[in-house]
This record gives sequence, structure tokens and C-alpha cells, in this order.
Amino acid sequence: MTGSESNVASTGRRPLVELRDVDKHFGALHVLRSVDLTVGEGEVVVVIGPSGSGKSTLCRTINRLETIDSGRITLDGRELPAEGKELAKLRADVGMVFQSFNLFAHKTVRDNVTLGPVKARGKSAAEARKKADELLERVGVANQADKYPAQLSGGQQQRVAIARALAMEPKVMLFDEPTSALDPEMINEVLDVMISLAKSGMTMIVVTHEMGFARRAADRVVFMADGQILEDAEPEQFFTAPRHERSKDFLSKIL
Ligand code: ADP
Ligand code: MG
Repeated sequence: MTGSESNVASTGRRPLVELRDVDKHFGALHVLRSVDLTVGEGEVVVVIGPSGSGKSTLCRTINRLETIDSGRITLDGRELPAEGKELAKLRADVGMVFQSFNLFAHKTVRDNVTLGPVKARGKSAAEARKKADELLERVGVANQADKYPAQLSGGQQQRVAIARALAMEPKVMLFDEPTSALDPEMINEVLDVMISLAKSGMTMIVVTHEMGFARRAADRVVFMADGQILEDAEPEQFFTAPRHERSKDFLSKIL
């Protein structure tokens, strides 16, 4: 079986993100090869694989930070718009959290979280502030709201980045190695926020090397190598009995 379609069908979820036969090159480099992936509403999909296998590119195509050469990507049943207002709207539906926290350095923590909703979602300042304070509370940094990003630890900054993405009320959240730049003692405080988000029903695509997170929070694990999805399985199946030689090899190196 090829995994994604059958898994989604079996859980009866409404497809929220769909990639069909997606190909992408950077010059002569073939970085995505006939990628098929369906992520159902409320589903948490962890993407793993060796460095350079195309995980970040995959994420970036979903909010069109990268174009694709061929194939089809739909979000909530609609094909990704090429540009303009429609594209801006789509981007607002896809929250993204990167390895580097990317907060606005010259804005306070609270302003980092209110800016997007006011500008892109047309919220009033008061509404945005109320929502921001709720979200900062939820990710455990409410007491840092008036500080600037540089005054926070890496773990706190990444939690603010999550709050900022959530403030846009996205349909899906993409995480691209959100804990890779953190000191070890800060990794869990970020993963705990992500686990609680997963439990709350958020649809999530998470590129990570944190296999503990995958075991605890993932509905499916997708293994990529050389631009291809080689395996798409439930965590239990993937970790105890990986089917593909490359998955076995990868797991033996990281576990
Ligand atoms: P991963 O996130 O799995 O490490 P990436 O998606 O970042 O992989 O990269 C896949 C391949 O594409 C790598 O060989 C990388 O060097 C290459 N690549 C990524 N972005 C670009 C770019 N903007 N231009 C050229 N090559 C790129
Ligand atoms: Mg990457």
C-alpha cells in the first residue's frame, strides 16, 4: 500500500492538505519526486528523513514559498492560487514555524502576535490584543508580553513564534525542525506546547528529529529520502517494523 490515501480513508477525516504527483527541481537537482500526501483535518503528520531529502521544500510548497514544476496541491479543496490577494489569504491559512524563530526584533512580544491579525485579518487592535494575551498565556509566556524577543530564551521565543502563527487562526500548522536550534533543556517546553496543540485538534505537519514527539503525538510518520516519500505509516508500525531499507537504516542511526 502507498499509505496516505488509505490511512486517511480509514480514519474518515476530511482531506485538508493534498499533494498529488508533485515534482520540483532546483536546476538539475530533482528535490521532490512524484510526491503524494494527504493530511486529514485534525491529523498530525510527522515528516522525517535524512538532511537534503526535501522535507523543507515540501513544507515550503504548501504555502507557496516555493513553486512546483508539476502536480497539484490543494488546501481545503482549493488549488493554491499563484499570486495576489488570494495567495495572501492562503498564506494566512497556513501557519509556519521555522527552526530560526524569525520574530520581529524591534517589536515587543505582544506586538509580534497582534501585527498579523490586524494587518492580514482585519482585526481591531483591541480584539487582536485580547487574542494575543490568551495565546501567550496558552504557550506559557504571558509574563513576557512587553519584552523584546532578544530578552527571551530560545525556547520562549519559539513559543512566541507558535503563538504568532496561531493568532492568524490557520487551518493547518507547519513546523520545520522547530527545536533544532534550541539548547537541549528548552526542547521539551516547545514540544509540550506542540503536543497540547496536537491534542486540541489542530492539523499539523511537523518536520522533526524528535522521535519522542512522533511517538506521542503523530497519527502518521512519513519518511522521505531523495525527494520521495518512501514510507507513510502509523508511528507504532513505523518504529517497530519499518518496511523500507532506507527507513530501517535511518532509524538505526538516530534511535
Ligand atoms: P531537507 O529539509 O530535507 O534537509 P531541503 O528541502 O532543504 O531538504 O533540500 C532538498 C535539496 O534541495 C537539498 O539538496 C538542498 O541543497 C536543495 N535546495 C534547497 N533549497 C534550494 C534552493 N533555494 N536552491 C537550490 N537548491 C536548494
Ligand atoms: Mg530542512
